[in-house]
Amino acid sequence: MGQVHSEILPGRVQNANMTDYSRAVSEFRWEDVEKEFSWFHTGKVNMAHEAIDRHVAEGRGAATALIYSDSAREERYTFADLQERSSRFGNVLRKYGIGKGDRVFIFMPRSPELYFSLLGVLKVGAVVGPLFEAFMETAVKDRLEDSGAVALVTTPELLKRVRHEELPELRHIIVVGAKADPEHGILSYEEETAAAAAELEPEWLTLEDGLIMHYTSGSTGKPKGVYHVQRAMIQHYYTGKIVLDLRPDDVYWCTADPGWVTGTSYGIFAPWLNGVANVVRGGRFSPQDWYKTIERFAVTVWYSAPTAFRMLMGAGLSSLQGIDLSSLRHVLSVGEPLNPEVVRWGDKIYNQRIHDTWWMTETGAQLICNYPGMDIKPGSMGRPLPGIEAAILDDRGNELPPYSMGNLAIRTPWPSMMGTIWNNKAKYDEYFRIPGWYISGDSAYMDDEGYFWFQGRIDDVINSSGERIGPFEVESKLIEHPAVAEAGVIGKPDVLRGEIIKAFISLREGYLPSMELKDEIAAFVKAGLSAHAAPREIEFKDKLPKTRSGKIMRRVLKAWELHLPAGDLSTIED
Ligand code: ATP
Ligand code: MG
Repeated sequence: MGQVHSEILPGRVQNANMTDYSRAVSEFRWEDVEKEFSWFHTGKVNMAHEAIDRHVAEGRGAATALIYSDSAREERYTFADLQERSSRFGNVLRKYGIGKGDRVFIFMPRSPELYFSLLGVLKVGAVVGPLFEAFMETAVKDRLEDSGAVALVTTPELLKRVRHEELPELRHIIVVGAKADPEHGILSYEEETAAAAAELEPEWLTLEDGLIMHYTSGSTGKPKGVYHVQRAMIQHYYTGKIVLDLRPDDVYWCTADPGWVTGTSYGIFAPWLNGVANVVRGGRFSPQDWYKTIERFAVTVWYSAPTAFRMLMGAGLSSLQGIDLSSLRHVLSVGEPLNPEVVRWGDKIYNQRIHDTWWMTETGAQLICNYPGMDIKPGSMGRPLPGIEAAILDDRGNELPPYSMGNLAIRTPWPSMMGTIWNNKAKYDEYFRIPGWYISGDSAYMDDEGYFWFQGRIDDVINSSGERIGPFEVESKLIEHPAVAEAGVIGKPDVLRGEIIKAFISLREGYLPSMELKDEIAAFVKAGLSAHAAPREIEFKDKLPKTRSGKIMRRVLKAWELHLPAGDLSTIED
């Protein structure tokens, strides 16, 4: 597995016109993907085995697996290195009686040790819970408490934010870069792993056993613990192949932090199941730093997010001076709708079509995508991958015809579908309230060629004078205006119209807020989109409120507007 492009994955159609696409869809069998895993033949399941050990066993141990860099370190590790490091860590966990089904959380900045320990947790059959480094005390405590984590891997800095005395189930804390402190129950990562054996037989699991827990980013409300099972690897591998288009010599970079699902499904599992070199860049985002990372490691496949592309676009051409991005072969985006303006800019500046991909924490892996071989329509999320069926449903579950806006729904099940929402069965059941379907919570329509078009979150759709307007369309038009860097659009209650459109806008460098500019921007949307979609109110902001994963938080904009409490803010940027 991982080295050859399988002929039996018909998603890789060269020219995905309707006939090819229909054929790919009708010929597709998940079993053909499953056959490529060792457990298909042995019955022994373990993600870490499949992603790491297996490559070593099959003679690919010397291939580069991890290229880590930040301002202080630059290190490379082969698959054999990762096997050894993760086995050592797994042995440490076993020594303390941690194993199958236990929740082990990791709360640390990106570093090689984060990846070693995450794989070690998986090797012993425990369920890993990565926490983004910027979480503050309460956010950390809520998540550790809700999950019933028995162990935590962290750093001396971040340990200060862990109120372990209030977490009776948390029995072990392993600190990277510190000496052991037995009195306070602190183990040293370095001391323990140095003393541990370098070999380990993984815990053999079934496809229904636990893999990972992610607390979602909270764009819409209180974070929920989305629990995934081992079966998800089928789809991680498959999408890595047909959507990321990973090939043996690729150098792949996913910019997401493992604290979010993109940073694990596509920052760990997809690349390593496919056996490719995976770049991890520590530290914070800056245009210069990111471009240098691509150049230095000759990145070929790059997976990032609209917020980053918009910032790179905002930074302008000067940030590209003297930078060589010619290694890039394939660029993808996820997390928020990808504005057509950004796609056009990618065409021009990178000579690369940015491929939008749609999925959610709950779905575990990509579902509706623009993938190599198909025609891309800027602004569309693409088409359901072969193996995935999507539809637009009304609230009673009736399928709607093309061009009707409604609930974006996916036919159940698919391999990476969440196992449950931890401690919240009622919430889990809500997604499946219509028999046979998963209701995503997003609003979209389908065109007559089966492409899907995102409109907004269901709760964000605006109802103005009887028209339903998706905020995404308005926001995309707004950012086509040269003064606009980013835009967040909400419905503001209005006696006459039900709701009116209000836009919050951050301006690009060199533009100053003024009444004239407001009028000009409103007129621009009116002329380019429609009168009813033009914002009746515009407010300029230095920055829009975003989650730490970079998503505009429209519920916070709405709360500001209505002077209401903003709700859970644990995932907001500083
Ligand atoms: P919470 O569920 O806690 O409010 P969240 O929905 O932001 O947080 P994620 O699971 O990380 O958490 O994000 C999934 C959501 O992000 C999707 O439901 C969708 O609204 C948006 N999204 C992701 N990718 C795309 C895309 N390509 N186009 C449009 N929207 C996208
Ligand atoms: Mg969500």
